Amino acid sequence: MSIEIAGQSVDSGEKLFSSMRIDCPHDCIEVPLFIVAGARPGPTFCFLSGEHGTELTGPEAIRRFVEGLDPTELAGNVVAVPVVNPRAMRAKQHSYPYDRWVWFTDLNDTSSAWPGRPDGNPAECTTHVIYNEILVKSQALASLHCTNYRPYMACLPGDLASRKLCFDYGRISLIYESQRPGGCVQYSCPKLGIPGILVEWPPLRRINHTAIEESLVGMRNLLISMGMLAGTPRRISDQYLVDYDTSKHAKIHAVDDGVLVREKAWGAPVAEGEVIARLYDFYKYREVQCITAPIDGILNNTGPEPPHLATFFMQTDSVVKGELLAWVAPCIEHVQNEGGDPWRHTLMGGPESGLTCLLQ
Ligand SMILES: [Zn+2]
Repeated sequence: MSIEIAGQSVDSGEKLFSSMRIDCPHDCIEVPLFIVAGARPGPTFCFLSGEHGTELTGPEAIRRFVEGLDPTELAGNVVAVPVVNPRAMRAKQHSYPYDRWVWFTDLNDTSSAWPGRPDGNPAECTTHVIYNEILVKSQALASLHCTNYRPYMACLPGDLASRKLCFDYGRISLIYESQRPGGCVQYSCPKLGIPGILVEWPPLRRINHTAIEESLVGMRNLLISMGMLAGTPRRISDQYLVDYDTSKHAKIHAVDDGVLVREKAWGAPVAEGEVIARLYDFYKYREVQCITAPIDGILNNTGPEPPHLATFFMQTDSVVKGELLAWVAPCIEHVQNEGGDPWRHTLMGGPESGLTCLLQ
């Protein structure tokens, strides 16, 4: 028994570290391809990362995970493309050949190009090949990304199989039910009838070794969840399912220019009326605004939006009048796992984080 992906065959109980070439009009791209064929039959799990050129933790997490995976323990197959977009990596940019507006662009964004086209731009050709050679042969997908935001996961609202995979990944507290526009790989999954999840760890541009340690547990948990490895998923103690319908979210804006002093970490649960942060104006340096939670929920973030913008310019605690100070999203479900591991990654934006993002 063997598995064949992109013309490469791997016998059961074996691993292959290889690559595949993607032909597109006027160009050719080489992307890495890892295949682990389990000793016993079972589902095929697809891991993707490196769709964006500033997101380096996912590729390294996949490398360590696949190298450490024992095919004799595995029922089914693992197929991984750790760097979907090597040209963006080479350019040290989010997208390639350039970032329009330094953030998302429909033209170049690989993560908006699914399921792709054989005659499209390089991003569309890449997604077309991965979709047709790997995804249609898979029974589950995890798409690994990075952010300068706090860690989070996402699945489609009402997609219970994907929601279960998010909870069983078990290492990130915030799980967003998010109805985003199509084009992301995980949102191709419902058409294929398989679960697909998004995993986001900070930061951009650097490898986060703690996130990799957590990812190794999380990826193993996913295979356990799919019945591909024996055991029970190791979850953290508290997990929150967050409603990402922004019409239900509450936002507070600055009444004046000042320094924002945060008292709660991004991702923290907050009760209505609880103090989130205080604003001290530049001109007399007195408190001009006490920011309290307008609703019960999860503190999505504090500080100017979009928080991802910090990615490309600077992460700052200075704000001007009218800028966003706090953003609270309703929580659909709080799951407490008795005996669960402590949460290591509130990390960002709170007084206890120390740094703006965790590097080790
Ligand atoms: Zn990304």
